[in-house]
This record gives sequence, C-alpha cells and structure tokens, in this order.
Amino acid sequence: MGSILEHFKYHDAYLEGHFLLSSGLHSPNYLQCALALQYPSDASGYGRLIAEKFVDQNVGVVASPAIGGLIIGYAVAQALNVRFLWTERQNGEMILRRGFSLKPGERILVVEDVITTGGSTRECIAALEAAGGSVIGAASIIDRSNGSADVGVSRIFLAGIDVPSYKPEDCPMCAAGSSPEKPGSRK
Ligand SMILES: [Zn+2]
Repeated sequence: MGSILEHFKYHDAYLEGHFLLSSGLHSPNYLQCALALQYPSDASGYGRLIAEKFVDQNVGVVASPAIGGLIIGYAVAQALNVRFLWTERQNGEMILRRGFSLKPGERILVVEDVITTGGSTRECIAALEAAGGSVIGAASIIDRSNGSADVGVSRIFLAGIDVPSYKPEDCPMCAAGSSPEKPGSRK
C-alpha cells in the first residue's frame, strides 16, 4: 500500500478543489473514508497497520461507533484475532445494544475511520465504560484534528490531514471567483 493519502485520492476519498459540504460550508478538501474502504483487501491493510500498534497491549475487544467505524473496526479485530462489537445511537444517545456485553476489566480498543473532534469516539468510550468495559486506547485511519482531539485515552492515527471549512460569505475560493461543486458530481 502506498501512502494513505495517495490511496485515498486514488479512490476519490480525499478530493482537492472547492466543495460545498452537506453542512453548507465550503472547503478546499473533501473526505469520505467509506470510498477508501470499498475493497476488503484495502480495509484489511489499514486494519493491520492499526493492529500493529497494539499487538503488545493485550487487547481483548475492538469496538467502534456505528456506522463510520464498522468496517475498519472489524478489520482491526480480525488482525488482532479478537472479537468485534459496536455502539450505536438510539434516540440520539450512543449505547451498546444487540445483546453485546463486556466482562469486567476486558481491555477494549476503540477504532474509528476518521476523528475530527473526537466526539463520537468519546461517546463510544462512555457507553463501553457504562457497560463495565475498560478502554485502553483509541485509533483512527485519519485524524482531522492535527492530533489535538482529546478522547480521554491514548490515541493513534495513520494519517493526519487538515480540512478547513468556511461559511460561504467567508470563503476565499468564492472570493477568488470560483464556484463550489458538490462532492460526487465529478466524473
Ligand atoms: Zn466557496
């Protein structure tokens, strides 16, 4: 596997240009991790890269917040040969459902595709700890926070990127005369 960002660009998972985000903000970059994880062999490769950093940590469970973390979390669990489970939102609250349970003291690694503020990872950790688990670390493929997102446990990532966003009226690309495109409209 070449560099992570080269691979993301190859799959249009990381675009450069002038984009209208679903939030209504404009950005010179667009990130959609799911596009980089379409081939299971690629997802497995990222999973191994994350797993390598935790091989000596006695991880017993990998857990991810749904939906974004599901594929990469599964891949990391496969590489570590441990079980995989996930948390999901119900009425806005991140919880453990589906009969998943944790043994006291079980060492859990939380895995996400991308961390921006760390919010969903923190909520996932809180749900796991409420269920009696002990989260020993967190990991993501991409970090959009330049390493600054604090999730309360030690954290690693495979690639850090900065994706600035602007209100339309403050957008320097609009000011320079270009029009934003919707991601996915490129062929
Ligand atoms: Zn703009």
